[in-house]
Amino acid sequence: MLGLMQSQPLLISGLIEFAERHHGDAEIVSRRVEGDLHRYSYKDMGQRARRVAKALDGLKLAFSDRVATLAWNGYRHLELYYGVSGSGRVLHTINPRLHPDQIAWIANHAEDQVLCFDLSFLPLVQAVHARCPTIKHYIALCDADKLPADSGVPNLQSYESWIDAQNTGYTWPSFDENTASSMCYTSGTTGNPKAALYSHRSSTLHAYAAALPDVMCISARDSILPVVPMFHVNAWGIPYSAALTGAKLVFPGPALDGKSIYELIEAEKVTYAAGVPTVWQMLLTHMKPAGLKFSTLKRTVIGGSACPPAMIHAFREDYGVEVLHAWGMTEMSPLGTLCTLKNKHDALPEAEKMKIRLKQGRAIYGVDMKIVDANGEELPWDGKVFGDLHVKGPWIVREYFKGEGGDPLVDGWFPTGDVGTIDPDGYLQITDRSKDVIKSGGEWISSIEIENIAVAHPAVAMAACIGVAHPKWDERPIIAVVKKPGMEVTRDELLRFYEGKTAKWQIPDDVVFVDAIPLGATGKMLKTKLREMLKDYKLPQT
Ligand code: AMP
Repeated sequence: MLGLMQSQPLLISGLIEFAERHHGDAEIVSRRVEGDLHRYSYKDMGQRARRVAKALDGLKLAFSDRVATLAWNGYRHLELYYGVSGSGRVLHTINPRLHPDQIAWIANHAEDQVLCFDLSFLPLVQAVHARCPTIKHYIALCDADKLPADSGVPNLQSYESWIDAQNTGYTWPSFDENTASSMCYTSGTTGNPKAALYSHRSSTLHAYAAALPDVMCISARDSILPVVPMFHVNAWGIPYSAALTGAKLVFPGPALDGKSIYELIEAEKVTYAAGVPTVWQMLLTHMKPAGLKFSTLKRTVIGGSACPPAMIHAFREDYGVEVLHAWGMTEMSPLGTLCTLKNKHDALPEAEKMKIRLKQGRAIYGVDMKIVDANGEELPWDGKVFGDLHVKGPWIVREYFKGEGGDPLVDGWFPTGDVGTIDPDGYLQITDRSKDVIKSGGEWISSIEIENIAVAHPAVAMAACIGVAHPKWDERPIIAVVKKPGMEVTRDELLRFYEGKTAKWQIPDDVVFVDAIPLGATGKMLKTKLREMLKDYKLPQT
């Protein structure tokens, strides 16, 4: 016997229809590439998203055709999120920090038909368009009078004149909720990039889950600043969760420096922000010397790479901001775990609570996880044993776009490539990417743990730990360190700083001071590049 409830597909257009009708005047504020602040409402956004959908019909785009973006976080990008997916096409957000060769490769692989870009990326488009034969139309996200003359980019028009030509009489189509809605390529540090292809159903379920109190806790009372880019796993789903709850959205555009972010948080009374640790590092570096404080910010979700404990402490103790440590990946839409305490933790002393907060957190309903050994056998949840982390759930990839890389699943579970422990309360702690674990004398050393200790030193801005071949121990850890401007620390001082903070055999063998640690397109440390940089490095004789 089937249930007798109404059947309605979970479609992305449903989110904007809801926001327009029930939170029509909630604000969307954007710092534009032009430098000024733009503000309008969900109602305005919905109307313009329909114009986008109609304009795509006008270009004769077929159902499921790909529309690519090279754009910052802003209102026009948001209109494309809804207009492209809502009309049944697939939004392909390209990371502009990738190398032009990779961008051309990705655009060809996705068979993009249209490319919409912020004018900051015109040079990039000029560099790649000749190598992207599938792209028939180029749309510059600007007013008609800002459209550059003689750009050399074929079929280029301004976004505003493109959508102005459409009236708003458009009804969102209804279709199977399993239809593809957007796609995002993984960083591809080895081999070609592979695309996660999200569906309307997976994105909507993820948006529901992300808004829950034990996840991002998003509500109509929030003013949200997603610093995490809309080209990185749909800005962690915030553009969808915000519409689902009617939260105010504040977009930073290209201005990601500490001063601009701080001013935007204060001016727009931001209550909640989300981003990777490197961005927050810039913000704290700006605030500390000037003695600045937040007046409205209550919580920040930090993920994408391990959040150093020193940052969690600083936000909490110096600024009264709760840090929610999150873990996920492109293949997971991206949210997998988020760290909030349970009722039974209420009575714990502050230091014990902090130990929990430093972990990557508990699985969200919809995500199941397990750790396994080299034979695929499940390992115990004792918070000590670590193994390869496998996950499954309705917003986790089953297969990559075009079957790239073959069948990724093992017995129905997706192997994340991360290594971690799970404690008896279900809290995950990531110790490493499996390829970054340091194997020393038959034991494993977590590079994240070694890095976290280094960045707790007041003179250290950034630290990356890698393994170096050792004749006796197989590998030994060394730590590459960038010092804070105007601060000093010597190799021996830093090595002494480790004493008592980790087992003796886990203390790095050496410290290498570097000017910068190479970062990838999503702001994560690129250890492959660092290893290349240090390929002639020799361990000190002991
Ligand atoms: P991406 O697909 O580019 O978002 O990268 C996903 C990878 O980033 C994960 O598989 C982890 O290795 C890493 N990552 C994400 N969040 C965290 C976190 N909170 N702690 C440690 N590593 C993380």
